[in-house]
Amino acid sequence: MNRQALDEFKQQIPLMGYLQAHDWQPARPLSPGRWMGLCPLHGDHKPSFLVDTNKDLFYCYGCGRGGDVIRFAELYHQVKFLQAVALLRQWRGVEPALHEAERFYRIQLHRHSEAFAYLYQRGVRSWALIELMRIGYAPGGCLRGWLTQLGHPLPALRQAGLVTGVGYDSYVRRIVFPLEGNLYGRSISAAAPPHRFLPGAKGGLYAWDQVRQYPEVILVEGLFDYAVLWEAGFHNVTCSLGTHLNARQFRQLCDGTRTVYLAFDADSNGSGPQAAQCLSKSLRERGITARLVSLPEGHDPNSFFVGGGNAQEFHRLLQEASL
Ligand SMILES: [Zn+2]
Repeated sequence: MNRQALDEFKQQIPLMGYLQAHDWQPARPLSPGRWMGLCPLHGDHKPSFLVDTNKDLFYCYGCGRGGDVIRFAELYHQVKFLQAVALLRQWRGVEPALHEAERFYRIQLHRHSEAFAYLYQRGVRSWALIELMRIGYAPGGCLRGWLTQLGHPLPALRQAGLVTGVGYDSYVRRIVFPLEGNLYGRSISAAAPPHRFLPGAKGGLYAWDQVRQYPEVILVEGLFDYAVLWEAGFHNVTCSLGTHLNARQFRQLCDGTRTVYLAFDADSNGSGPQAAQCLSKSLRERGITARLVSLPEGHDPNSFFVGGGNAQEFHRLLQEASL
């Protein structure tokens, strides 16, 4: 690769986009186009990582390292120059493949009554909600052919995790929800593991940009919990996709003054309530008011509504939520 080809290649992968896809977030602006944030290359406690989006360069005042997107990939993945270029090239092919897969799965939803039957049974019954959450269905055995026909190279599909190492569709008989840079697939068959993500980060809190404006936010574990609450008129709801929040999700919850209602599963083994306790403690340490919603034993918000609970009753649970 000569100098010019390398420059053109780099232009196709803006540093900021690559950083954000690896869960980096700017903490504060320095000047137009220049941002400071925590350094992803060393254990950083106060933002010392500078990103200049005008020049597409980074520099860390903590560990003294800096450079372009290729240099970042070298350091972040601990690989040599040529491997870093290869990783970036693959990554560039992943995003378009994900978008195309999402589009394909949404079309498939209309063709498979078993998918609608499952959604109905989980309380997802309005067309508006299906459109809002961009819900699709992966029947299995047909995505790879479609995407390769559209010109997506097989290595990119493998890299994205859409296709397995031996070349089969990864998602088979799964309801699919698009996330930031990932797809969550919920099996409709009891024989398969229920929850699956593609490799890579699960992203931030679900629909956070729409939710962060609310002074009171409801946090749930699963997207089907999110769906029923939204349908019941609670639009200040977000979802962490599991009880364990990643660093980015936690930072998001703490990025303003608000009350967070934790409505995790009241599972009989106590793991949901325990995780909620733990999280509420961490939130309080950051000055965020956290309240624990206690659902009837064995219920999650989804089963609460599917089992006949209504908005008024859930509202009461919020009012009774303990500090
Ligand atoms: Zn650093």
